[in-house]
Amino acid sequence: MTTTDTGSPAVFAEPAGTPLSLLLLGQAADPRSERGVECPGDLPAPSDPDLVARALAAKEKLGDRVFILGHHYQRDEVVQFADVTGDSFKLARDAANRPDAEYIVFCGVHFMAESADILTADNQQVLLPDLAAGCSMADMATAEQVEQAWDVLEDLGIASRVIPVSYMNSSADIKAFTGKHGGTICTSSNAERALTWAFEQGEQVLFLPDQHLGRNTAVRQLGLSLDDCVLYNPYKPMGGLTADQLRNAKMILWRGHCSVHGRFTKECVDEVRERIPGVNVLVHPECRHDVVESADFVGSTEYIIKTLEAAEPGSKWAVGTELNLVRRVANAHPDKQIVFLDKSVCYCSTMNRIDLPHLVWTLESLVAGKPVNRITVAPDTAALAHAALEQMLALP
Ligand code: SF4
Repeated sequence: MTTTDTGSPAVFAEPAGTPLSLLLLGQAADPRSERGVECPGDLPAPSDPDLVARALAAKEKLGDRVFILGHHYQRDEVVQFADVTGDSFKLARDAANRPDAEYIVFCGVHFMAESADILTADNQQVLLPDLAAGCSMADMATAEQVEQAWDVLEDLGIASRVIPVSYMNSSADIKAFTGKHGGTICTSSNAERALTWAFEQGEQVLFLPDQHLGRNTAVRQLGLSLDDCVLYNPYKPMGGLTADQLRNAKMILWRGHCSVHGRFTKECVDEVRERIPGVNVLVHPECRHDVVESADFVGSTEYIIKTLEAAEPGSKWAVGTELNLVRRVANAHPDKQIVFLDKSVCYCSTMNRIDLPHLVWTLESLVAGKPVNRITVAPDTAALAHAALEQMLALP
């Protein structure tokens, strides 16, 4: 497909409607989303006083047949039932290391459950308690858009020197695209290694879908300049860039971001420094570049947890990541002053869709022998995505 072929307004128009409104309603379908929106099921009432007892009873009945994964950003009411907690890649690997577990209940979001399905055995079923639990960042790069962008690079004659590097927070389709074109997946912990490897394989990188992680890693860790990075807008012909811009860029950053980490601003950093003298500012690399530049420490969720655990008693910290995690770590370390970087509430709304009623419903359905909300990735997609994940595991 040529650039002009893809230039019709229908393709590049901003999508009508808001997926978020559909998510909040929990109804209808969102064709632009990598996840489902409707979550059918006879959910127990949130006010049911027996929810905790019901979850415990169902879990006990299922025994080793079920393995519950809890992402760091999940609610406490759900995390208390998790067999393990962690970030998305750690959880997917934990699931793969439990081949005896027939059912993997993934308390996280849709792309994480897909990754778990890709990495676990065929006889294991991965269930997502609420199909509407998705990731707005993953939704910002659809397979169709990315294929169109690749067509643009091919038409310019540069695709052969571009290596795709996709963040773990992407759909199985995007991971498969990455595997198909000889690229790698990365996490926020190994993005530097992934980019270093990619620049050994080619001359340019197409980084999907989080512009901030791509830019922050390229500039802060690889020593590239901001001018080496261009932003590809999938809603504009040729990404809104000129042929020369695309040819000369070292990093072609996809125009995606995390709706949670993207909320933090440099003003938040300045304000907290004034409010709490001596505070250490610790942020996730999904934050904007100016936020990361003004912070004292930058790193993945696991890095954030370890840094706070190792911090001196009495030390002061303002943390720029999801609020459930910040609150949990603050409660675990009352000897340190740990505050949220922003003054306003900042949960991941889609992650928070998974609550105790959804978990109870999922577990009780398993007890009844009727698994719900199974996530399966088509075999050809899974094979290509697996290749990209394997490449990440093989990074030097
Ligand atoms: S915190 Fe951001 S990247 Fe993580 S699931 Fe939520 S929207 Fe996606």
